[in-house]
Amino acid sequence: MQGLIGADMLGELAQGAALLAWNRNHRFCGRCGAETQARIGGYKRSCAACGAEHFPRTDPVAIMLTVRQDMCLLGRSPHFAPGMYSCLAGFIEPGETIENAVRRETLEESGIRLGRVAYHASQPWPFPHSLMIGCFGEALNDDIAFDGKELEDCRWFARDEVLTMIAGAHPNGLGVPPNGAIANHLIRAWAEHG
Ligand SMILES: [Zn+2]
Repeated sequence: MQGLIGADMLGELAQGAALLAWNRNHRFCGRCGAETQARIGGYKRSCAACGAEHFPRTDPVAIMLTVRQDMCLLGRSPHFAPGMYSCLAGFIEPGETIENAVRRETLEESGIRLGRVAYHASQPWPFPHSLMIGCFGEALNDDIAFDGKELEDCRWFARDEVLTMIAGAHPNGLGVPPNGAIANHLIRAWAEHG
């Protein structure tokens, strides 16, 4: 994200970071508790005691840009850089579809109900081994009731205001996540191309 390595190497970096983290955190068998050994270059861990084989996990995260007419919904977590607003996001729960996770997270965090949900693009996020699944959602209501525990602010932004945020020219210094982040990709795709 800070441009320290070329874009053509980001896939390898994500692969290495995710595999190293998974191997480091799965040294013992989840079934019997014995020590496991890495196999096939770290793509599997085997337990000699009970025969279980363990494979790298990927944690799916839904990240969504909610839109309504010429407005989009952005929020701020307390740990964000000053002035930065971004898409809402949350882990997809076991047994849940991507679409329902997008609707549930949006409702929980903002009080906005979604109708149509459409997949747009995805991004590996090896911190430690997530896959960000980027979607657009169409809002059915516009009265925000955000959850103050997760977000310190959440509001509608008009397209013109979002364009100034993307350009780094917002009068109050508000901005969006940097190039290379899927949130930036979603926000740009909507603001610049509708
Ligand atoms: Zn075992």
